[in-house]
Amino acid sequence: MQQFFSHSIESFTDWVTDHGQPSYRAGQVYEWMFAKKVFDFSQMTNLPENFRKLLIENFTLPAWKIEKQVSTDGTQKFHFELEDGKSIEAVWIPEKNRQTLCVSSQVGCALKCQFCVTGLQGFARNLTQEEILEQIRHVMFVENLPLTNLVFMGMGEPLLNFENLCSAIDLLKEPKAFGFGHRKISVSTAGTVPKILPFIDRTNVSLAVSLTGSTDETRNHWMPINQKYNLSILKETLMQVPQTKWKKIMFEVVMIHQKTDTEEQAKNLVKFLRGMKAKVNLIPYNENEHFPQLKAPKREDLMKYRDILMKAGYYVSIRKNRGQDIMGACGQLSSHLNQAKMSS
Ligand code: SAH
Repeated sequence: MQQFFSHSIESFTDWVTDHGQPSYRAGQVYEWMFAKKVFDFSQMTNLPENFRKLLIENFTLPAWKIEKQVSTDGTQKFHFELEDGKSIEAVWIPEKNRQTLCVSSQVGCALKCQFCVTGLQGFARNLTQEEILEQIRHVMFVENLPLTNLVFMGMGEPLLNFENLCSAIDLLKEPKAFGFGHRKISVSTAGTVPKILPFIDRTNVSLAVSLTGSTDETRNHWMPINQKYNLSILKETLMQVPQTKWKKIMFEVVMIHQKTDTEEQAKNLVKFLRGMKAKVNLIPYNENEHFPQLKAPKREDLMKYRDILMKAGYYVSIRKNRGQDIMGACGQLSSHLNQAKMSS
């Protein structure tokens, strides 16, 4: 048995022709799924009966246990139990003119950022291509929710699951499959430096880089990956990104009260950004019971930080906290730490 959604269009087409069928049959299968929203091979009535049987005998589609929570602000969090019993989460965030799904790339995360709930559970495994895509397929075709944008900002460090991430993005962009424009997909990295240039080379989607600490001393503490790839190595790598791709890079800074939201941190950030065409997204810390000592920033500190960056000429946006009441906001996703609450 093979996972249908772990195939590329090319490899599935090869499978079809290897089994004595004309290649256009592959296109018919994708058409049933993505245009007609029919995922049951037995109902694909323009395919010969024996070919339908062959598909049923050879391909599985995911069968996950799914729980959903809806926030008072309309955000929806999906808890997906995978076939091996492990679980991941994805969050659907509706806004006026766009709807975004925050997608996971790994079960857990190895990077242990000192403010992130996912990091507390450690790393279990990478998601397969199919497991990445199924989060999106479920929301679009089972829940029938509108979806315009995808952000790989859920559980895990996407660039540490490089191959499956890139091949999933191929199908997400494929007009015959999910059909997302490359501007509608954004991948966030904690700074997996060796994979940044290969990623920019391989896909043309947007990249976000999580900084949070703007000196090595602070970043070593908050994001231990900095001990391996420090700020100067990160900057040196980013400076090699071709000019034409720069408009797609965004820096994310988690604003933690009196820790990362200080004037000094803002000034150091300006120094770090010097020479780069940067956009900055400030993420007010989402408080949670796992890190009770960490607090959201005061509004005036947030504004002061923003003004320092803006005066230095950088575009700055501030992320809205959505889905906090269902532990669905940035950095709050976990396989099991939230479970007690969900089932109560
Ligand atoms: N591993 C990737 C993607 C997942 S995290 C990365 O680090 O970029 C997505 C964003 O949420 C990151 O910028 C991360 O720093 C931020 N984040 C983590 N915990 C948070 C919290 N409790 N409050 C606000 N943002 C948080």
